[in-house]
Amino acid sequence: MRPPRFHLLGFGVLFVVATLLHATLSPRSTLWGPVLVHADRHATVVALTFDDGPNEPYTSRILDILKARGVKATFFVVGVNARTFPDAVRREAAEGHEIGNHTFTHPYLIGEGGRTMLWQIDETERTLQELAGVTPHWFRPPHGFRDPRLFPKARRMDLEVVEWSNMPRDWTRPGADVIVERTLARLKPGDIILLHDGASTWHGGDRGQTVEALPRILDGIEKRGLRPVTLSELARAPGAKGYRNYVDDREPADLRDCE
Ligand SMILES: [Zn+2]
Repeated sequence: MRPPRFHLLGFGVLFVVATLLHATLSPRSTLWGPVLVHADRHATVVALTFDDGPNEPYTSRILDILKARGVKATFFVVGVNARTFPDAVRREAAEGHEIGNHTFTHPYLIGEGGRTMLWQIDETERTLQELAGVTPHWFRPPHGFRDPRLFPKARRMDLEVVEWSNMPRDWTRPGADVIVERTLARLKPGDIILLHDGASTWHGGDRGQTVEALPRILDGIEKRGLRPVTLSELARAPGAKGYRNYVDDREPADLRDCE
């Protein structure tokens, strides 16, 4: 039998490893840096976000639904997909949606060198400026994974890191009914809802179920007395000041200034 100090050391190492893994993988951890997860739970708004696009015909079908319902959302665009479907990015911008940076080729950022990480963010920003005249304010790391190197780079580029609080796992294609049910069952005021119009850099990834689910998700949001808005609107909404899950050294006033 080992002396107790070896057991204690083992538990200590396990605890540290678990903490670092949680900080890297969990959308809710702010250990590595400030991350927007949701707005204040007293807010009357939620933010709909779509990742991995553009990816046609699904992006256009989502834009059609949002337009018909008068709803603005946030699209986390992958740079290489924007190059393939530039008209979709231009339409997102022209119709008043917010466009976020989701890297150029959707890599696991934690496996990349610092220079590559910077290039992934910077090249996407250049692409979005060139194609649609848009400078993103929000950055969402692929898969939500991040490490401490990301935050100074994002800050230098005036980007804020955002994760999510409501994820119905639409990319597993569980059926439109399940996507609706999962989203609405966990829906809370201030939520950031994560859906997908694309599939990493894979063009033609089938997002038909997400498209089919969207009108019913919008119905459910409205039925709860909530209003779907862009991320920047969510951050400015009354009651969203000083998000409980958002730790930053800046005052909320700074967030209201940036768009
Ligand atoms: Zn993604």
